[in-house]
Amino acid sequence: MDSLKDKVAIVTGGSRGIGRAIVLMLASEGCHVAFNYQKSEEKAKALEKEIKALGVKGKGACVDVKDFDGVKKWIESVKKDFDGLDILVNNAGIVRDKALMLMDPKEWQEVIDTNLTGTFNMARLCIVTFLKQKSGNIVNISSVSGKIGLPRQTNYSASKGGMDTFTKSLAKEVALYNVRVNAVAPGYIETDILENFSDEDKEKLAKIIPLGRMGKPEEVAACVKFLLSEKAQYLTGQIIQMDGGLAIQ
Ligand code: NDP
Repeated sequence: MDSLKDKVAIVTGGSRGIGRAIVLMLASEGCHVAFNYQKSEEKAKALEKEIKALGVKGKGACVDVKDFDGVKKWIESVKKDFDGLDILVNNAGIVRDKALMLMDPKEWQEVIDTNLTGTFNMARLCIVTFLKQKSGNIVNISSVSGKIGLPRQTNYSASKGGMDTFTKSLAKEVALYNVRVNAVAPGYIETDILENFSDEDKEKLAKIIPLGRMGKPEEVAACVKFLLSEKAQYLTGQIIQMDGGLAIQ
């Protein structure tokens, strides 16, 4: 994958937070971007306008990553409308934090189905195109929680740990077809996902992060940009921790 200019990218969960920053990074590099969301229709419409103002094609779609058939229809329509497909960024993700002794099966399943099965659905439905054209680039947005495990996140840690080994396994499977698969594993990034954290919690957290602060969505997007660039063309199957040093081992 060379320059991002005139490439076609799909970003899941683009309406807010990290996904939104990735969408805008891609559009400002000249890439045409399709993104999906689940509820944030107004934000998606506003983002579409921002993308188009950057001189590229942009379209948001209300598609649930958990729904294989819905995702299939969406990807087919993107390939037709945008005339191709080069990049997939699996970003859509949710948390349902709770101690295991209180977690009900629905809270377990929803997180696994969104974060892990959603990644499968998207990759499964893009990979044939990438293999046929002998080029493609996948970046999965994982989490340090998948590497080190965090309390009250057995569902989330398991989903992201699964995403990491999914990344490595697929990278080995498709490397000879010129398809690279990598992941970024952020630490704490300032988005709505942290809405249940009080300012006091955030201050305490900042103290245990070696770089002394939370990250910004644009910093994750910059890492994604590198992974998609020609500078990273010998890099596949890697999980890049972007966490201010939180999970240094
Ligand atoms: P946000 O909650 O800010 O945004 C989540 C996005 O995912 C929204 O666009 C949301 O759409 C979309 N989404 C959620 N469920 C679905 C679904 N079933 N189908 C389609 N879209 C869906 O999250 P962040 O930006 O913080 O997180 C993005 C990714 O980064 C996630 O995978 C998360 O696990 C990961 N991450 C985040 C960290 C952080 O501290 N922020 C740390 C480590 C990893 P809608 O707006 O319609 O709800």
